Amino acid sequence: MNRKYRKTLIAGNWKMNKTPSETKAFMTELKGILPKGRWCDIALCVPSVCIPAAVRALRDTRIAVGAENVNANASGAYTGELSTAMLLDAGCKYVIIGHSERRAMGETDADVNAKTLAALQAGLVPIVCCGESLEQRESGITEEWITMQIKLALANIPEEKIRKVVIAYEPIWAIGTGRTATPEQAEEVCQHIRSVVRKLFGSKNARATTILYGGSMNEKNAYELLAQPDIDGGLIGGASLVPEKFVKIIEDANQPTA
Ligand code: PEP
Repeated sequence: MNRKYRKTLIAGNWKMNKTPSETKAFMTELKGILPKGRWCDIALCVPSVCIPAAVRALRDTRIAVGAENVNANASGAYTGELSTAMLLDAGCKYVIIGHSERRAMGETDADVNAKTLAALQAGLVPIVCCGESLEQRESGITEEWITMQIKLALANIPEEKIRKVVIAYEPIWAIGTGRTATPEQAEEVCQHIRSVVRKLFGSKNARATTILYGGSMNEKNAYELLAQPDIDGGLIGGASLVPEKFVKIIEDANQPTA
C-alpha cells in the first residue's frame, strides 16, 4: 500500500450470506470491536435486502455500505434488478461490478463497462473486479487477460473520473478456495494493472488509483498481502462474515507507509 498517494480500502463482500436480522446483529458486534484509528476506508457490500439494515446500523460509524451488483439502465422493465439511483437513495456508497461469480452467470465485459460508467455517473464508487482462471494462469496468459479485462471495463471513462474507480484483482482460483495468491503473485498482477491504468490515463492517475487484492484474504495472510506496494487493500469474502476476522484485517492495514 502507499497511503501517501492513494486510499487504502478494506471492503467485505458478503455474497449471498446473512439475512437483514443477521446483518443487524453482525453490525452491532462489529461496532463494538472496531478500532478507533482511521488508517483505511472500510466498506461492507451486502445483499440488496440487507442494505437498509446495514445503513441503519452503520449510520453513526465510518463504515460505508455497498451493493454487490447494479443494473446499468436508469429504470424500466428489468425485473429483479436495481438501478444506481435506488442504491444511492438506499444509502450505498460502493458497488461491486464484474465479480467473477457474476461473470460466470453471464455478465460480459460490455456489461461491466456499462455498469461502471453508470455507477460513476451516479456518484457511486465502483469496485471493478478482474481476474484470471487457473487454466489461464497455467497457460501463461494472465497479463494479457487482465489487460483486456481492464481496458474493456474502463473504456470511455472520462479522465477526471478514473480516480473514483477502485479496481479489485481477484484470481478466480483463489476465490473461496482457501488458496491465496502469494504476496509476490498478487503484487505482480496489481503492479501490472497499475501499468495498464498508466498507459490509459497517465502516471498521476495510475499513482492515485486504489487497487485491491481479493481471493481468500484472511486474518492470517492479510498483513503480508497489504504490505505489497501496489496492493491498496482487500476485497474480502468469507473472512468478512466474521466480525473478529474482518477487524483483524482492518488492523493489518495499519502499516507504515513508504
Ligand atoms: C470475493 O468474493 O470477492 C472473495 C475474495 O471471496 P473469498 O475472500 O471468500 O475468497
